[in-house]
Amino acid sequence: MPICEKCKNFVRKVYDCEHTNDEEYCVECYMELHYYINEDPNKASED
Ligand SMILES: [Zn+2]
Ligand SMILES: [Zn+2]
Repeated sequence: MPICEKCKNFVRKVYDCEHTNDEEYCVECYMELHYYINEDPNKASED
């Protein structure tokens, strides 16, 4: 199970983009990050 680099919790799925500095974030941290930078995280591509 992956770990969120920000809150250090085990999560089912992690997300990253250019804003996370190559770290993997849980959905809560990822959404929070994008809330502050005012970018829509839904347009980040999943691979
Ligand atoms: Zn997190
Ligand atoms: Zn982003």
